[in-house]
Amino acid sequence: MNTEEIYYQDTHRTEFDASVLSCIPEEKKGAFLAVLDRTAFFPEQGGQRSDLGELGGAKVLDVRTRGGIITHVLDRPLTEGSRVTGIVDWERRFDFMQQHTGEHMFSGRVHARFGYDNVGFRLSEELTQLDFSGPVSREALAEIEEEVNEAIWKDIPVTAGFPEPAVLRHLEYRSKLDLTEGVRIVEIPGIDRCACCAPHVDSTGQVGLLKIVSAMNYKGGTRLYIVCGKRALKDYGKLKESVQGISVLLSAKQEEVFDAVSALKKKDQENLSRLVRIEAELLHLQAEALPSPETARNAFLFTACPDQNVLRREVNSLMERYEGIAGVFSGTDGEGYRFVLGSRNIDLKELLPFLRSGGFKCGGGKEQVQGSTALSEADIRALFAGQNF
Ligand SMILES: [Zn+2]
Repeated sequence: MNTEEIYYQDTHRTEFDASVLSCIPEEKKGAFLAVLDRTAFFPEQGGQRSDLGELGGAKVLDVRTRGGIITHVLDRPLTEGSRVTGIVDWERRFDFMQQHTGEHMFSGRVHARFGYDNVGFRLSEELTQLDFSGPVSREALAEIEEEVNEAIWKDIPVTAGFPEPAVLRHLEYRSKLDLTEGVRIVEIPGIDRCACCAPHVDSTGQVGLLKIVSAMNYKGGTRLYIVCGKRALKDYGKLKESVQGISVLLSAKQEEVFDAVSALKKKDQENLSRLVRIEAELLHLQAEALPSPETARNAFLFTACPDQNVLRREVNSLMERYEGIAGVFSGTDGEGYRFVLGSRNIDLKELLPFLRSGGFKCGGGKEQVQGSTALSEADIRALFAGQNF
């Protein structure tokens, strides 16, 4: 016997009585699977998560459907043959109805304008995802978003029913099925007509608002994430808080934070370039203070400057003056060093085994090698001091 689906008669019904036809433990999970003669719990299907709530004092963890039988996954068992009361989590249900109806409206308008289908609908607690089978430009998305919101505010009735076969045969609708009967058609006049089994709001006004959160190209089509109703309000609140925070930090008007952040980023880049220039100059002064090439074969410098070009430039300059090895190490004893080594007279490629066994991770050619090491400055100096290059 198929379970009677109360949500088809009344999408706003949250409390109902039913008889427990069967209840068995679920394998593995420690849950229980109950089948009722009737239910107001909409099961997971068509990309939409199931309703949750309470049933006979048990928590409803999930609701599934297969071959017309709806199974409630519960955290404790029910007695077979008993009468139980079910309470659907209305906040969750209504949230899903808002998102789902909004999805119909958007998909209906995209279909009317471009003929594309929604081929990847997913509705969960966090996201409402729509995948359209063709490209939709940013401008068109913005226009459709506005159209849909205009239709929401007109508060158009949303109807659902099972048309007679004679009517169904000639009916144009999205997600057209080959079936000639038993197809549930959800209609929003002037906006959308679609085959769908899920609960929707009674009129478009209940969707409240639809906002596109993000849009991207996806497999030759378009992937969208949208928020409707209370989710849109929450999303707005979250973004508002963030913008407010940035506005206070930058002493900028909320509607001007983008310009303020752009200016800050530009300034940050300028400061960074200035810092690199100063570090390069400092490094050069350090180089000039090194023991002269007449008294030292090797030259090693330690700096905080992370700019690889600066390091390489300084090594090039030292290589010209010192007979042995020139090295510039960037970092600290705690965090380790990145380095560039160079030499005009010593084949550094042949020196790689020595460097690696000494604690350097490095690679390179005859004249220059680079890499990193966890050794301290003292250890690095000691490593080279003991060698006769
Ligand atoms: Zn639907």
